[in-house]
Amino acid sequence: MKTLQTIDIKDKIVVIRCDLNVPHKDGQITDETRIKASIPTLKYLLDNGAKEIHILTHLGRPKGQVVPELSAKILQKPLADLLGEPVSFNETYESNGEKVQLHENVRFDPTEKKNGNEMIAKLMQLKPDLFVLDAFGTAHRQQASVVGLADKVPSVAGLLMESEITAMSPYLSQEKVPGLTIIVGGAKMDTKIGILEHFAKTAENIIVGGALANTFLHAQGFDVGQSLYQEEKTEKAMEIMAIADASGCGFHIPVDVMCADDITDQTALDVPTEDVMGDMKIFDIGPHSVASFKEIIMHSSTIIWNGPMGVNEFKPFENGTKGLLEGLAATKAKVIVGGGDSIAAITQFGYDFAEFTHVSTGGGAMLELLEGKELPGVKAVS
Ligand code: ADP
Ligand code: MG
Repeated sequence: MKTLQTIDIKDKIVVIRCDLNVPHKDGQITDETRIKASIPTLKYLLDNGAKEIHILTHLGRPKGQVVPELSAKILQKPLADLLGEPVSFNETYESNGEKVQLHENVRFDPTEKKNGNEMIAKLMQLKPDLFVLDAFGTAHRQQASVVGLADKVPSVAGLLMESEITAMSPYLSQEKVPGLTIIVGGAKMDTKIGILEHFAKTAENIIVGGALANTFLHAQGFDVGQSLYQEEKTEKAMEIMAIADASGCGFHIPVDVMCADDITDQTALDVPTEDVMGDMKIFDIGPHSVASFKEIIMHSSTIIWNGPMGVNEFKPFENGTKGLLEGLAATKAKVIVGGGDSIAAITQFGYDFAEFTHVSTGGGAMLELLEGKELPGVKAVS
């Protein structure tokens, strides 16, 4: 990967793709993490004498149409405040001559997501001397603002992009990584199979929680009642457990779970996993599971965590994720966290990002990188 420090910035017109896709409600940004994470590279460009800096980002899913509520304009003020520099908002893809220009949501253009020539041509109107990719969160997307300029102008990775890759590259090895524990939860089995397959070979321990665990419980022959699980992934789950077994990787599923009839129930019942039946629904891991998972964390040297242990948005089902985080914050081991909902849980339960070795700005991108896929964005700047 080509990096920013290797290139002369002075007097250059720079187009930079950031991932400023922040959560927002009624025009108010609710979490500035992604903006803050993008500041060091923007500052670096300013400090090194860039002539113009053109900031690109997407925001939400406008599906190729102009959706006023998803205008990138809401980013203008926080960017200017955090940069300590005026930021002008530009809707035309033609330079207005200002030093720092923020452009409209790239996904308003119907050809952005297809890496279409129309969008690439629009971006080329800015006459860039240099393209910087700093949007790790979208580096797994083959889209115009991510990869489209790479064969037209010199292209490098930004500081955020570089730090993400540096943090995760030690774990891409095909060899056993001593002391490595992978914790995967959440709901989206499809996006998590890849890393489970990869780490079943190279990790010492895999812990599964969340709705993901239900599919593995089902594959092991447990009754999961009416819990959310994926029948069609049963065989895949068995395959992953067989790989783990063959490679000497401990595969850990919850020994007890928190059940309720409905997600809106005010209380949950702690049930040994083998006693789940009938209409019961699993919404979290139980306290015995939390204790045993914490024990594994304490004996690991590196932990990679992606995906909550339960439906942590609801109080009766938050203790699994909360307990896990307590273990992750307490350990001296390296801890890498990724995934939108997992990162939200850090703040939700009062922890600070600084308590962890690396908090990734990418969910899907992190998963794809760790499963060993070549990310289109990485390729573009290599
Ligand atoms: P991340 O964003 O960290 O990658 P995911 O998006 O994969 O995580 O999963 C988070 C979602 O999984 C949360 O909305 C949570 O409510 C849901 N979830 C976790 N455990 C369960 C469960 N047992 N049943 C249903 N949904 C669950
Ligand atoms: Mg999520």
